Amino acid sequence: MMATMECDVLVVGGGPGGYAAAIRCGQLGLKTILVEASRVGGTCLNRGCIPSKALIHAAEQFRAVERASRDHPLGIGIPGLPSIDFGRTIQWKDGVVEKLAGGVAGLLRKAKVKVLDGWATFQDGKTCVVTGKAEQTTVSARHVIIATGSAPVEVPALKFGGAVISSDEALSLSAVPKRLVVVGAGYIGLELGIAFRKLGSELTVVEQRDRILPLYDDALTAPVAGWLARNNVTVHLGASARGMTDDGSALLIEKPGGETLSLPADKVLVAVGRRPLTQGWGIENLALDMDGPFIRVDERCSTSMKNVWAIGDVVGEPMLAHKATAQAEVVAEVIAGRKRRFDPIAIPGVCFTEPEIVSVGFLPSQLDAEHIVVSAFPFAANGRSLSMEAGEGFVRVTSDRTSRTILGVQAVGAGVSELAAAFSQAVEMQLSLDDLAGVIHAHPTLGEAFHEAALKGLGNPLHA
Ligand code: FAD
Ligand code: NAD
Repeated sequence: MMATMECDVLVVGGGPGGYAAAIRCGQLGLKTILVEASRVGGTCLNRGCIPSKALIHAAEQFRAVERASRDHPLGIGIPGLPSIDFGRTIQWKDGVVEKLAGGVAGLLRKAKVKVLDGWATFQDGKTCVVTGKAEQTTVSARHVIIATGSAPVEVPALKFGGAVISSDEALSLSAVPKRLVVVGAGYIGLELGIAFRKLGSELTVVEQRDRILPLYDDALTAPVAGWLARNNVTVHLGASARGMTDDGSALLIEKPGGETLSLPADKVLVAVGRRPLTQGWGIENLALDMDGPFIRVDERCSTSMKNVWAIGDVVGEPMLAHKATAQAEVVAEVIAGRKRRFDPIAIPGVCFTEPEIVSVGFLPSQLDAEHIVVSAFPFAANGRSLSMEAGEGFVRVTSDRTSRTILGVQAVGAGVSELAAAFSQAVEMQLSLDDLAGVIHAHPTLGEAFHEAALKGLGNPLHA
């Protein structure tokens, strides 16, 4: 006999959207059930943000030791070349993920959320059948939150399997691939590609657009392009993947003008975007309005059906963990009867490449040049940057010419990901250049470059 359960809120999907919504619902006293087919934490924790950043860190550590085997300007030396036991690296990365997933499970317990392991299929807008390993459960709820996330996009000519992998497999390889070809020079392709290059892979990047990281402008991506060039990474722009050779040992690509190249590869990482997961869970039994491939929601994260809510990657760009979590808090509080809206001025984006890129709010190219002031301060003139060998980069502030309100902040450089909070606060709080100029920034820190960019925007730079 099928078990039945009832609750106030049923959350489908336990990623940073779903698990955060469930925790907040539980904290607000709502009887909450969370269904997760795999492991709580979702893509982000299990096969996305966290494992990729762990691998990137390991690669940075390896690169730092490797530098010591060459002529090191700091006088640090080691005899011979370093080696890496990649199995142990992956074990360590899995340990980080394990620890955090355990933490999420603990938080769900503390909030009295019931977690069901299994796949949820909607029967209607209030009922799901959850198929677990051993049993099926029917769950009825007053409210449902859809947080099913996203999955890697497949290139038709390059089906996943064998040497052709997605980020899921790239994060759990048993050895560093000798020759890695990455298809797609976006977030995943460059974050992971650069990490594997540091770990010793020969790296080739194939991108269909005429530039890497098309989300950003040339000034921001130039230091990344420079790193790729200095590290012997071949980048084919305007190129399309045509498929693997018959023996599966090389990727065939077509360059602009029709030239075909064969790129020998042990692994081909396809990272051409992600698609919202809207199939396989009974969406046909609901009457949801769609927004292209995404579920359409309003600023309360309400779908077109009463008491059916949706958050995270499944509702649209940007497909970022912090956006999913922010929507989770909003939707839980709306269900609990509070007045909340998801209406941020800006959602920060951080690209963990070498060097890192941060962007909050508008890029100058998205605004009318006549009405803005763009001021950039280089890390070459920042003491902290030089004293930690941070290399090239800058902080750039764009403000309204009349009101001086900060409309966008970007930075590229080593360690700039940690400036994202300060940039977000400035843009979200609609600070002006004068506000920012009046804030004392600690010395010596990278953040001083943010302050200096504001001073420069006001026409009063101190160190430029
Ligand atoms: P997901 O995290 O995808 O979670 C959805 C969950 O729902 C999954 O666990 C799935 O098993 C479950 N599920 C789906 N359907 C059902 C069903 N019918 N029944 C039961 N369970 C179901 N974002 C950042 O902000 N920063 C980063 O640094 C970053 N790095 C990334 C690196 C990689 C390699 C990848 C792939 C992604 C990265 N992202 C990053 C994006 C981030 O992972 C996603 O934006 C985020 O996970 C979306 O959260 P979500 O809750 O919407 O969905
Ligand atoms: P992406 O959209 O960042 O980049 C995809 C790239 O592939 C683009 O440059 C695109 O022009 C290119 N492309 C598309 N089709 C192609 C083809 N057929 N051949 C060659 N190139 C092609 O997508 P992604 O790197 O797969 O990442 C997916 C999403 O995951 C991101 O958009 C982001 O939302 C999230 N993510 C975020 C982070 C982070 O926040 N640091 C890290 C990883 C992933």
